Formats: sequence, C-alpha cells, structure tokens
Amino acid sequence: MSEYDFLVIGAGSGGVRAARMAAAKGLRVAIVEESDLGGTCVNVGCIPKKLFVYASHFREDLEDSRGFGWRTPVPPFDWRRLLHNKNEEISRLNGIYRNLLTNAGVEIVAGRGRFVDPATVRVGDRDLGASTFLVATGGVPDRPRIPGGELAIVSDQAFFLDELPKRVAIIGGGYIALEFAGIFHGLGIETHVLYRGELILRGFDSDLRRGLASRLLDRGIDLRCECRVAAIVQSAESQCLQLEDGSEIEVDLALAAIGRSPNTGDLGLVEAGVDVDAEGSIAVDEHSRTSQPSIYAVGDCTNRMNLTPVAIAEAMAMVETAFGVHPTKMSYHNVPSAVFSQPPLATVGLSEEQARKQFTDVEIYRSEFRPLKATLSERKETTLVKLVVDKATDRVLGVHMLGPDAAEIIQGMAVALICGATKAQFDATVGIHPTTAEEFVTLREPLA
Ligand code: NDP
Repeated sequence: MSEYDFLVIGAGSGGVRAARMAAAKGLRVAIVEESDLGGTCVNVGCIPKKLFVYASHFREDLEDSRGFGWRTPVPPFDWRRLLHNKNEEISRLNGIYRNLLTNAGVEIVAGRGRFVDPATVRVGDRDLGASTFLVATGGVPDRPRIPGGELAIVSDQAFFLDELPKRVAIIGGGYIALEFAGIFHGLGIETHVLYRGELILRGFDSDLRRGLASRLLDRGIDLRCECRVAAIVQSAESQCLQLEDGSEIEVDLALAAIGRSPNTGDLGLVEAGVDVDAEGSIAVDEHSRTSQPSIYAVGDCTNRMNLTPVAIAEAMAMVETAFGVHPTKMSYHNVPSAVFSQPPLATVGLSEEQARKQFTDVEIYRSEFRPLKATLSERKETTLVKLVVDKATDRVLGVHMLGPDAAEIIQGMAVALICGATKAQFDATVGIHPTTAEEFVTLREPLA
C-alpha cells in the first residue's frame, strides 16, 4: 500500500486547497513545497501587489482630500517601512497556511518534488509513494530574449527592491505591467510603459482598453504603444533601453512583465508519463486529469485561466472528481477578473467584440461620468460602465467597468451573469444612491 492516498506538489492556492479538502475526507495527504507556503498569490503576486496598490494610492487620496477641507501636505514616503510591513504580513500569511495544513492533518514536506515513476515522488533522499497525485506548481515570469534582457527584473524581484528607482521602464501591456505602472507612478516614480501592440490589454473590451490607455497618459505615465525594445544596455549610472525605432530611454530600472510560463521544468513529468504541450503546460482533460490517470494538475502549470480563484475552483473540482461521489468540472464561463491598475478596471462575460462575433444583434449600454467624489476633489477623470446585451433574448452578456472600486462592483455583477440576468432584470433592480454601482441599473438607452 502507498504511504499516502494523495500527494500534492506545490503549496500555492490550488495545491493547498486540494490538500486540505482531501484531508478533510479522511485521506492521508502530503504536500511538497520547496519555497514559502502560499505560492505566487501570497508571496509574489495578488497579496503583496494589492498592498503596494493601496500604498501608492495614498498620494492621490491626500491630494483629493484638499477639496474636502483637509490641509495636509503630502508627507515623505518611506519605502523601507512599506517593504518591512509587507514582508511581515506575508510571513504571517505563510504561518496561517502552515496552520491550515497541519490542522487539517496534511503533512508538509519541504523540498523540491520530482517524479521518479508514475507512483513515486522523490524529495531530497525520500521517496514518497501515493495512489493519486496533484501537480500544482504554478508559473514563473518570462524574461525578454533580447540583448541585455537579463538586466531587466521581473515581478518576483519587484516585490523586494532595496531602493525605489527614480525612473522605471516597464515592458509589456498586460495585467502585471499596468498594475506596476500604477504602483510606481503613484509612488512618485517617472514611469514608462513600453507595449509592443497597438493597444494595451489585448482581449479586454476595447472601451476599457482605450479608456485605460488615455487615463494613464493623462496621469503622466509615458505609455508607448507599438514600441518594441531591441536591447538593454547597462551603464554606470543607468539602464538604457534601445528601441527598435532607433530611439532610447534612460532609466534606473527596467521591469519585464511579458507574461508567465508554466513551472513544469525538472519535475520528472516524462518519467511520470505526463504529457506537456510545446509551451510546457501540462495537458489535462476537463477534470484536470493528465495523460497519466492517477496524476492531476491544476492552476497556472496547466495554463488555462491563470487566476488564483480559478486554481482554487479547479482544485475543489479535482478533489471531488478523484475522491468524491460526482466527477466535477470547473466552469470557465463568466469568470470575472480585474486589473488593479490606477484607475482599476474589472470585467465579467463577453467583451463587445466577442459578443458581436457570437450574436447577430448586440446592444451596448454605456455611461461615462464624473463620480460624485470628483466634484470636490476636482479630479477630471471619468468612470466608465458598460453593458453588452443580446437583443434577441435580452440576456446581459458582459459587464465592464473602469474606475474606482471596479473590482468590488463587478464581483456582484458576476453573480447576476451566472444567474443569466436579463437587461429587464437589471432595469427592475433599484439602485443604491449615490453610488457608481447604481449606474448599472439605470442605463436606459442603448447606443445608436
Ligand atoms: P499578460 O499575458 O497579461 O501580459 C503580457 C504582456 O506582455 C502583453 O501585453 C504581451 O503583449 C506582452 N508581451 C508578451 N511577450 C512579449 C515580448 N516577447 N516582448 C514584449 N512584450 C511581450 O501577462 P502578465 O505577465 O502581465 O501576467 C501573467 C498572468 O498572470 C496574466 O495573464 C494573468 O492571468 C495573471 N495575473 C492576474 C492578475 C489579476 O488577476 N489582477 C494580476 C497579475 C497577473 P501582447 O498583448 O502583444 O501579447
């Protein structure tokens, strides 16, 4: 008999949830982790990122407060203090993850796990046998393959900078690039964003993409689209980004945020009989089962939808499939997501472009307005809300927002979309006044 019923490699969001749920079913469970517990989200992702977003936002809050009668000057900012407090909080969370696992009866095995055959994982000099395995090893940031590309840091390092740069160039136009652009800019750093495509955030609704791009420019971020970096050169004082058009940008720090790849190297997947695709993603079926029936994989290492709550939902479905009564599938429909840029944006369902491809008659309801708070703060920036509706059935297909609290508001909208809400039901909902969210239930006329 195997030593364990279930062995998980990777104690990130997906792995920890799966281990705890399986242990709660009375199974003998172990989880292998070579680094801090909690994975990307807790250590170098969602949580420290959001703490940095809060930190950088205070400048704007202090500026806004003046119109409301506060006469506070913007005080000096202490990066070291923020870094220390952030690190303390992450250590606290690491401890909470440890307690959650041990209290659930999960054995934590420190070290790197590697399959030696389909039924055995080696950690150091220990061979661990199990009847079912889960690979939940997450992803790692990509590095630019250009001369001097190794000079750029990636997001993992951006969370631990000893000192803040005065000037930063961010390569990329996706989630991480735009979130860090807001963080650095908010902390008073000269910020350049260099994006290779026509418009940032490929795949998002074009109103959000255009809207965010113009707001970043208005705020003073040097966003350049169709801008490709050819090389990075280090000099004594600075880093020089040489662009393909022949121009150059001098900065103190370059951050590459050009995507993430599955963390599937050196796991012994070949020995385990687990197939990976050309990008290194573990191939899985709709139940997260790999080509080796006793081995499952969830989260970013499968490169399906790389979001923490998705990895957690995949993990729960996987445990139910492997150890429960009903094989369970994760639904990828109407998964909401947010970019914690400044201003933030959030979205659920289809973009206008996606809806027009799938439905013959699509109605768009949109409103762009100055939120109440902006009247006294005298901030010019508008908030944008948008509904995408299928005219034939009146079903709301997509809800999009760009502006303060977008993520908080769209989370609730996602419930409505999961319930199949119609535009008439949005209209029948009474607003909460005065809020931004009420705009979603008072959009009366579709765009011409
Ligand atoms: P994204 O895929 O979001 O963005 C990558 C960006 O880099 C794109 O703009 C892409 O351009 C560009 N790019 C890709 N390759 C190159 C290259 N060789 N040279 C120059 N530019 C390049 O990846 P991120 O790294 O921002 O984030 C990774 C993933 O992590 C996200 O997709 C998301 O799933 C998750 N995440 C989620 C967050 C959230 O929920 N708030 C926050 C952070 C990350 P193009 O569009 O042309 O391909």
